Amino acid sequence: MVMQEQSSAIIETTPYYQNITNEEEIFRQAWQHQLPVLIKGPTGCGKTRFVQYMAHALNLPLYTVACHDDLSATDLVGRHLIGADGTWWQDGPLTRAVREGGICYLDEVVEARQDTTVVLHPLADDRRELFIERTGESLRAPDNFMLVVSYNPGYQNLLKGMKPSTRQRFVAMRFDYPSFEQEVHIVATEAGVDEKLAAQLVRLGHAIRRLENHDLEEVASTRLLIFTARMIKAGLPVRQACMACLAEPLTDDAQTVAALMDVVDVHF
Ligand code: ADP
Repeated sequence: MVMQEQSSAIIETTPYYQNITNEEEIFRQAWQHQLPVLIKGPTGCGKTRFVQYMAHALNLPLYTVACHDDLSATDLVGRHLIGADGTWWQDGPLTRAVREGGICYLDEVVEARQDTTVVLHPLADDRRELFIERTGESLRAPDNFMLVVSYNPGYQNLLKGMKPSTRQRFVAMRFDYPSFEQEVHIVATEAGVDEKLAAQLVRLGHAIRRLENHDLEEVASTRLLIFTARMIKAGLPVRQACMACLAEPLTDDAQTVAALMDVVDVHF
């Protein structure tokens, strides 16, 4: 049995989310029209935070599943388990969300096994139906059910990209790193540092992002800039914080780490 990271919750306090463009309006319209949403964007750019913010704004429980390459349709839908009193059925996170209503958010959906598309397709189009093969049950999603998926189109290989037939069932939004001013505000707020330090880090982040096509598979995300700012706030020397939170997480190659630290030295 493959366990996956999952959680569901009513989000009690308003998550801090800095609107970037019209994403909230598009999401609300999709919700009102019972359409599923696909969010594409690089890692750490705010996709998950946005979904949490929208779940709170719409007063919906949020069921989050972090997809990985072993995640199967069974993991999403549910399975029979053996207990002291015999076998019993346990709903997976997708089934729970369909039964109880709420947002089911499949993070990095393209990582999941291909068989998941068989359950997602009828749920994502106007049938809004979940068929549970093992119990023969067919569930119609309630009005307050919404399917949201995300993935990072940057580092997927061709085989792992989302199939057009799946993509075309969703209202799709492209996220990217925020503008300079927005990102400074996010880093300052999330790390509790002043805007001067946040601006220095965001400038450094931009410089690293310009290296993307050279040596790095992924670039410095907003998340990493926030981690760095938190470490500096906690008293770690700037260079050490940048090494631990930016350079080392971005690459395993010692030479590339050294090159990234040269960029750090230009900025601090
Ligand atoms: P991902 O795109 O990988 O789902 P997250 O939503 O987890 O990324 O974002 C990483 C972190 O960056 C968040 O925990 C949050 O601190 C911060 N963040 C990114 N974008 C925003 C935003 N627009 N508003 C508020 N915080 C943001």
